[in-house]
Amino acid sequence: NGNGLQSRGPLKVAIIGGGLVGSLAALSLARRGHEVHLYEYREDIRTAELVQGRSINLALSQRGRKALAEVGLEQEVLATAIPMRGRMLHDIKGNRTVVLYDPCTNQCLYSVGRKYLNEVLLNAGEKFPNIQRHFEHKLHYVNLTQGRMEFKRAPNKEIVEANADLVIGCDGAFSTMRQQMVKTPGVNYSQEYIEHGYLELCIPAKNGEFQMPENYLHIWPRDAFMMIALPNQDKSFTVTLSMPFKVFDTIRTTEELLNFFHKYYADAVPLIGEERLVKDFFKMPPQHLVSVKCHPYHYGAKALILGDAAHAMVPYYGQGLNAGMEDCTFLMSLFDQPNLTTAEILEQFTELRWRDAHAICDLAMYNYVEMRDLTKRISFRCRKWLDTQLFRWYPSVWVPLYNSVSFTSMPYSKCIANRKWQDKLLSNVFISATVALVAIGVSTYFGVFKISYF
Ligand code: FAD
Repeated sequence: NGNGLQSRGPLKVAIIGGGLVGSLAALSLARRGHEVHLYEYREDIRTAELVQGRSINLALSQRGRKALAEVGLEQEVLATAIPMRGRMLHDIKGNRTVVLYDPCTNQCLYSVGRKYLNEVLLNAGEKFPNIQRHFEHKLHYVNLTQGRMEFKRAPNKEIVEANADLVIGCDGAFSTMRQQMVKTPGVNYSQEYIEHGYLELCIPAKNGEFQMPENYLHIWPRDAFMMIALPNQDKSFTVTLSMPFKVFDTIRTTEELLNFFHKYYADAVPLIGEERLVKDFFKMPPQHLVSVKCHPYHYGAKALILGDAAHAMVPYYGQGLNAGMEDCTFLMSLFDQPNLTTAEILEQFTELRWRDAHAICDLAMYNYVEMRDLTKRISFRCRKWLDTQLFRWYPSVWVPLYNSVSFTSMPYSKCIANRKWQDKLLSNVFISATVALVAIGVSTYFGVFKISYF
């Protein structure tokens, strides 16, 4: 029943947003016999001629894979994904260095097409008669207590009303559901725009082949800014250039752009091609990046937010989608407990999830610094080497931060606690070793002194 106070039968669930998290949530709930209505603002991307949106490809890792495995789609997605075994760093002179993600057990990230993944999820939903899809429906109002919704339907923006036992907002970083929730007392919310924007460029295939080794995530770290590139199925690379808006503002002409690229990314210029670089760079203004924290994620027994709607983050840990998909895994594990009421499921979801969601937002901010700056440093590579050796020797005890985030399902907050413990241990060992060396040096000196004196 829908009041959330007694044990559940099948619910009528409205999912707002048919992006990656929404289409996964719809599928997961339909598999459990619920009546699902999926409302999406855009037209059906499977038939749309031109799909506008962010990042053509995404790095899929363990948490996303696990969620896909649970709906039986992991192998289908991995079959066309491109494994990325490590970072390939491009220095300013064009030298390339490989830093493998996991030299011990060879785990890797997978580059997948956003549109393809969305299509796979929507197609899988077609097998379930208990999913109804409503494209071109934009939520503009929801009554959180009653589960009553109003949509504006394209092309005339006519108002369509609907209701549900449970409304799940998967409507992205600028979520309308969340906007409605934060108007109610007790809902805490913060957002932070970073001073960096991003835009996408492309390294096309040449003679039908990749122009750079494809099994890496390519990074051009340049202190205050950076560029990354992920491989695509068609043998091109999608390149994301991130820099402070004030640096973007200094590039207004073709000449300024080419000078900038020849100075900082000279090895990438022939790969992108000057003409294409100019065309793609000036095609769209740089996009903003926002990090969102919120608590709670639910309202009573009727409303919940998942994915970017609940915890949008800057994209530098490649975890936004993975964390959103993990939300579904988590929510379904609560739905699978027959004794929980809907109200208890939602309450427990918030309680068990918020620390980890906040933790990954923080980690994503941290990784921005690591990618554009720290990866260049000798100290970073030494630490990476040490982590790898310790992981090799003690795989169940010493899991490096990046591995725990990307290649395990360890709660994100525990990944941070783990790293703090490792840092503390290493700094104690370092201090003890320094003290021991000093002590040996002093005693040797006095030993030598004594010998020579006597
Ligand atoms: P979205 O993908 O934003 O989908 C929301 C959906 O809701 C959309 O289809 C939208 O049309 C619809 N919608 C919005 N408003 C309404 C409304 N009012 N009514 C109805 N429908 C509505 N994550 C990774 O894990 N790995 C990566 O490598 C990675 N790279 C990224 C690179 C960039 C440049 C960016 C910006 C993000 C990246 N991310 C990555 C993050 C990832 O894109 C997001 O975390 C993920 O798309 C979130 O999915 P979502 O379904 O919650 O939201």
